[in-house]
Amino acid sequence: MEKRWIDLHIHTTASDSLLTPKESVEIAKECGLCAISITDHDTIDGFAEAKQKADELGIEIISGVELSVTYMGDDFHLLGYLIDHENPEFLKKINSFREERSIRGEKMVEKLNELGIDLRMETVKAIAGNGSVGRPHLADALVKEEFVHTYDEAFARYLGYHAPAYVPKKFLTPKEGIDLIHLVRGVAVLAHPGTSRSQQVISDFLEIGLDGIEAYHSQHDRNTTTQYINLAKKLGLIYTGGSDCHGKRKGKVLIGTVKVPYRCLEMLRRVKEENY
Ligand code: AMP
Ligand code: FE
Ligand code: FE
Ligand code: ZN
Repeated sequence: MEKRWIDLHIHTTASDSLLTPKESVEIAKECGLCAISITDHDTIDGFAEAKQKADELGIEIISGVELSVTYMGDDFHLLGYLIDHENPEFLKKINSFREERSIRGEKMVEKLNELGIDLRMETVKAIAGNGSVGRPHLADALVKEEFVHTYDEAFARYLGYHAPAYVPKKFLTPKEGIDLIHLVRGVAVLAHPGTSRSQQVISDFLEIGLDGIEAYHSQHDRNTTTQYINLAKKLGLIYTGGSDCHGKRKGKVLIGTVKVPYRCLEMLRRVKEENY
């Protein structure tokens, strides 16, 4: 079979998507993708279930994770690919991030309470299930309890970066994030640079070991994608891509909507081979 399109950025119910790992793999198969990566926020809990389904359906799957780091007061996301996801030191670290997410969720609920919104953490937890707690769960809870009309309104009024109930995640520096990915022999890629003021920081991240840039993304238009592919080539970085699907939370299921060529996976494997 000719190897063609892939999706290297998919969330599941292990973090803040509405689709289970199994469902995500099934959709990828229906879309005709030949390879995927599950990249949940601060957890690899979705990987085992996804791998089992991917093996069954004959789709290639690689391990992945999405970490949040803070740089110059802004939040940036790092994707770690082809990681040794069973490394105990790594698991301990990302479990602590998950716990921090839960504590942060409670702090955001407290802020909402101070704003006169009587939301309870139990409602958020019921929505998050076993998933690593994130703002999307709070947004869903606000919609469910009819404090806002829509998911987007929840971010605009309360949960967005400059909104009153926003609480930043625990401070992790870019170097700590990249080093953690490298500790487990992974490849470190800057996620969706087009969604933040990332251009200025890419060269700084390069100096501390960044391996690649996510050029294809559901929030990048064609010009943005081309711009990041060219930038990656210029800087000697690889480029990757994926849909960043969160189930229908962001309107529709995005798996398969971003055309990412198989060579991105080949580049990841090449870097892994060269580095380790
Ligand atoms: P967290 O990691 O808890 O800070 O939540 C980040 C997630 O929230 C992202 O992956 C998006 O899915 C979602 N998100 C962040 N900002 C917005 C926004 N303004 N509108 C809708 N969703 C957002
Ligand atoms: Fe997310
Ligand atoms: Fe992200
Ligand atoms: Zn993501």
